[in-house]
Amino acid sequence: MYTYYIGIGSNLGDREGYLAFAVNQLVGIQGVTGVEHSNWIETPPWGPVEQGLFLNGILKVKSTLEPLTMLETIWHIERLAGRQREIHWGPRTLDLDIVWIETEAGQVVCVEEANLVVPHPYFWKRQFVLEPLREVYPHFSYEGVSISDRIEELRVLES
Ligand code: AMP
Repeated sequence: MYTYYIGIGSNLGDREGYLAFAVNQLVGIQGVTGVEHSNWIETPPWGPVEQGLFLNGILKVKSTLEPLTMLETIWHIERLAGRQREIHWGPRTLDLDIVWIETEAGQVVCVEEANLVVPHPYFWKRQFVLEPLREVYPHFSYEGVSISDRIEELRVLES
């Protein structure tokens, strides 16, 4: 059994509806035994493309699915939500990224495959990932730094 922390975002159409859709889809998948989520937060878009505000959050998903199967599952859900992959970093109805994985014993799972890198390469730089992650995983720390200290560090860097 794994615990997956999955970043979720939408900035096109019925954003809240797409996030709820993803949660409901995950709940119905065989091999998924629990889905919790953070509050949704509104955040400015990240990257070079001009686009609408995102609604972001983190899903905490308990599952027996192996990481690459979970990746295929989230792609399937993105496609069901009408996601088109035309503009890199462009607007999207639904974006799901595997941020962090742990085993039941609390061991961190690292993946380095062509299609999947976990921990997600940018997660520690993104406030819109870390703030909701802290809600569902308050004692999270990375490379000896607590998530609250890191959020504060990013806040200062950005001000
Ligand atoms: P995006 O357009 O931001 O959804 O990026 C999706 C691409 O990132 C896909 O080609 C995935 O194979 C790749 N990818 C690499 N690592 C991850 C990860 N941890 N979670 C989701 N997608 C990933």
